[in-house]
Amino acid sequence: MKKLIPLILILSFLLGACASPTPIKSNTAESDVLKVTTSVASIQWLVDQIGGEHVQTQSLTTSGDDPHTYEPTPAQMIAMAQSDLYLTAGVEFESVWVPKFKDSNSSLKVVDVSAGINRIPIADPLHFNADQQGELDPHVWLAPRNMKVIAQNVVEALKGIDPKNSTTYQSNLENVLTKIDDIDSQLSEMLSKTKRNEFLIIHPSLGYFAEAYGLQMIPVEVNGQEPSPTELAKILALSQKYTINTLFTQTGTNPLNVEVMAQQTGIQKIVEIDPLAYDWVANMLFIGKSMQAALN
Ligand SMILES: [Zn+2]
Repeated sequence: MKKLIPLILILSFLLGACASPTPIKSNTAESDVLKVTTSVASIQWLVDQIGGEHVQTQSLTTSGDDPHTYEPTPAQMIAMAQSDLYLTAGVEFESVWVPKFKDSNSSLKVVDVSAGINRIPIADPLHFNADQQGELDPHVWLAPRNMKVIAQNVVEALKGIDPKNSTTYQSNLENVLTKIDDIDSQLSEMLSKTKRNEFLIIHPSLGYFAEAYGLQMIPVEVNGQEPSPTELAKILALSQKYTINTLFTQTGTNPLNVEVMAQQTGIQKIVEIDPLAYDWVANMLFIGKSMQAALN
């Protein structure tokens, strides 16, 4: 029964769309453009870099959304029903929604662009989850090495449904790989000689980033939840041990909660990062510079 509701929604919106003054065109130049949907905006940026004028993209989540619990809007479901390609990155909400996307569009091709990435468990420096198998970290796009794997997968996916533009996709790939390598060397340079290697962050989005640059992430959330008072006390003791003076938070987190948290810890500086920003290059540089300042 649950499954029926979104389908009915989509159908009613689709009927609405068909009745609108702009009919859906076929066999025109516009229909040559591939409609691509991604789950996160940073991967949409990558598809735009590689696909250029041959793609029309949308991302389901962007700055301030929570991809752990996200639900697509009716407008996104309509666009999904017209998409040629859906690029999944294995983010939580996708496990529920990708089957619904397939139901709403039988010709939709779904490709996992995170295939080939070695997923790591979410950092747990205080062993709060010692008894359980740790959850694997979904924030794969926040590290250059992973972004290169994603870029390769994007190119294969585009070539697969649009082989006539393969040469363009391949040459755009070379360009974007150069940009990613350049960011990687800048970040290595910035983060190689810092005073400390440990950082405190509310939501554990920088696990792959930490792994890439030899840093240790100390998350405040435990299993996606607020820590218990006992857990919080242990987290604070650890952050004091490392003389941590910055608390990383993210776009969308209630600033009042963060303020209270910073006061409790005596931490002076709060830095907001955006794990879902569209412009991946600018975002990685911002995170790198903020991290460099926090570690010195
Ligand atoms: Zn997250």
